[in-house]
Amino acid sequence: MIFKNYINGQFIDAASGDQMNVYQPSTGKVYARVVSSSVVDVNTAVQAANKAFYSWSKLPLASRINFLNRIAEAIENKAQYLAELESTDQGKPLNLALKIDIPRAASNFRFFAGAISHHLEQASTMDGQAINYSLREPIGVAGLISPWNLPLYLLTWKIAPAIACGNTCVAKCSELTPATANALCEIFSEIDLPPGVVNLVHGLGHQVGRAISAHPDIPLISFTGGTQTAVDIQRQAAPYFKKLSLELGGKNPNVIFADADFDLAVEESVRSAFTNQGEICLCGSRILIQESIYDQFKQAFVAKVKSLITGDPFCENSDLGALISASHRDKVLSYIDSARQLGGTVLCGGEIPLLEDGLSKGYFILPTVIEGLSQDCDVIQQEIFGPVVTLQSFSSEQEALKLANDTPYGLSATIWTKDSTRTHRFAAGLKAGIIWVNTWLKRDLKTPFGGYKASGVGREGGHYSIDFYTESKNVCIALI
Ligand code: NAD
Repeated sequence: MIFKNYINGQFIDAASGDQMNVYQPSTGKVYARVVSSSVVDVNTAVQAANKAFYSWSKLPLASRINFLNRIAEAIENKAQYLAELESTDQGKPLNLALKIDIPRAASNFRFFAGAISHHLEQASTMDGQAINYSLREPIGVAGLISPWNLPLYLLTWKIAPAIACGNTCVAKCSELTPATANALCEIFSEIDLPPGVVNLVHGLGHQVGRAISAHPDIPLISFTGGTQTAVDIQRQAAPYFKKLSLELGGKNPNVIFADADFDLAVEESVRSAFTNQGEICLCGSRILIQESIYDQFKQAFVAKVKSLITGDPFCENSDLGALISASHRDKVLSYIDSARQLGGTVLCGGEIPLLEDGLSKGYFILPTVIEGLSQDCDVIQQEIFGPVVTLQSFSSEQEALKLANDTPYGLSATIWTKDSTRTHRFAAGLKAGIIWVNTWLKRDLKTPFGGYKASGVGREGGHYSIDFYTESKNVCIALI
């Protein structure tokens, strides 16, 4: 199997003819090849997207919406096939892909088909002297760069609003997870999406991603990925004054107050720590527990974590699959080693599970819980992006807030309490873009999504996405 670029409605090789291996994380074996593109292929894709822009942006809105709805329907019809691809390519449990990744990819298209059809602009009058109204226009070729953890879910979160708003795009998925992006392009081809509206260029970040970031004919970039990568993207984009939306890493606090619904807090904290092997930017990787219930919570939490099954992503009972790559697994293990050296106690996990033959070379790590680390160490401060969670205690609400905010990141935070006054007070004090109270990962696609500090720049979702993927123009007419 070879995943090719999709440019101007055609599946084609990279101009250089180069290819790379694609590994199946659960076996550690090469299962496919993907083309490895360069700036030459990005230039070809940008030309195709530019050529398609005029007619796509002028297409009646009803026709654009129809295309989005047909893409959603095709994703739904192929849900099982797409979920199997995603699980093979990414290592996540098939059940998770079926429950979360693929349905969400379809709803991204349905949601933005609806959002654009209901979008209304504003007008204002100036004391009877003039009337102002705003126009929103598509911008041109959108550069869309996505990561490997939720491959189809996050790629479609960018493509859907970009094309709903009348832009065309040049997209780049992670070189580690090209499979469902390729399948999405097959869908574009099957439903006769006009050539050039969506182009996909496969390849390495510093080649293809950088060429997109630095391309003078790409006026906006939506990027989801690591904070350090975003620094490079900002540098490349700076000379062209591009619009940038940067959705980056997190080190999210999960704060358990003594008055929380205990069983629910334990149950959902396990889910929030280890869903997708902890490879979700929104995972609650720092659990802060009020000291009066620390021991009780720790015991219940660790018991539940020990009952999780790590294994074959295709097995119905598996709670955790494999991490994305051998190098990522080694990075996660190095954080666990560092925690031990710093005097932390590994309460469970911390090692590679012994799995049967076919999976023995897969990139698995048991879900790991660590306590006894100081706030300033790297394990607490830096995003690990794997099945590792730390436990810390706090005595007062004030101390909890200080600990919660004390990392370079500010993506999300979760609070468990029954005290509604505290909820409002604490949520107001948190430096994070997304706050959940007594729940986790509940997403209303209308609401703003994005992070504070090193977790990102800008917001996406609902009209925030429409703002981002369009340029606004004010028209002021004197009432003479
Ligand atoms: P990454 O930054 O390594 O790669 C993301 C994408 O950028 C890939 O397609 C990669 O090829 C490309 N890339 C790499 N170097 C580039 C460069 N110099 N210029 C342009 N593009 C380049 O991230 P990853 O390892 O794929 O994903 C994990 C990270 O993504 C984590 O930090 C995670 O928190 C973050 N993430 C954030 C969100 C969010 O919504 N905030 C969601 C998912 C993942």
